[in-house]
Amino acid sequence: MTKVTKVKKSDENWREELSPEAFEVTRRAATEAPFSGRYCDTKTDGVYRCVCCGEALFDSQTKYDSGSGWPSFHTPIDVHAVETREDRSQFMVRTEVMCANCEAHLGHVFPDGPEPSGLRFCLNSLALDLSERESEEKTQAKQDQSASDEAESSGGG
Ligand SMILES: [Zn+2]
Repeated sequence: MTKVTKVKKSDENWREELSPEAFEVTRRAATEAPFSGRYCDTKTDGVYRCVCCGEALFDSQTKYDSGSGWPSFHTPIDVHAVETREDRSQFMVRTEVMCANCEAHLGHVFPDGPEPSGLRFCLNSLALDLSERESEEKTQAKQDQSASDEAESSGGG
C-alpha cells in the first residue's frame, strides 16, 4: 500500500481558508493579471510555500527576472514538491504546475528558462506565500535575547 499524504479538502473548505482571489487561482486554475502579483519583482531571500497547504515549493535562489510579469523560477525546491500535467485550455497546449501535496494550481512551466534546468516555472503570486529567511533568523535572535533577559531578571531580588 502506498501512503496517502495528499491534502484533500472540499471546495467549501478551501473557500473558507483562502482569499477569493487565491481560491480562483489555486482551485479554479485562474491566472492573475501580469505585473499585478505581489511577488512579481520580489528579490527577498526565503522560501515560497503553497498558499493552500504551506508546503515548501520554490526557493528564492532559483527565482529570476523573466520579464513575463509573473514570478518565475527555474527549479523547484524538490522534484517531488510539484506535479505537472498537460493543460489544453484556451486553445493552447501548456504544462500546468501544481502543488504535489494538495494539487493547488500554481501556474505553468515552459521550456524557455535559463540553465541549469532550461525551464521557466511561471507562477501566480496568489498561489504562493513567502517565508523570509532573514525574518526567521531575526525571530530566533529575539527569542535568544528575551531568554537572556529572563535570566538576568530572575537573578535579582
Ligand atoms: Zn499545496
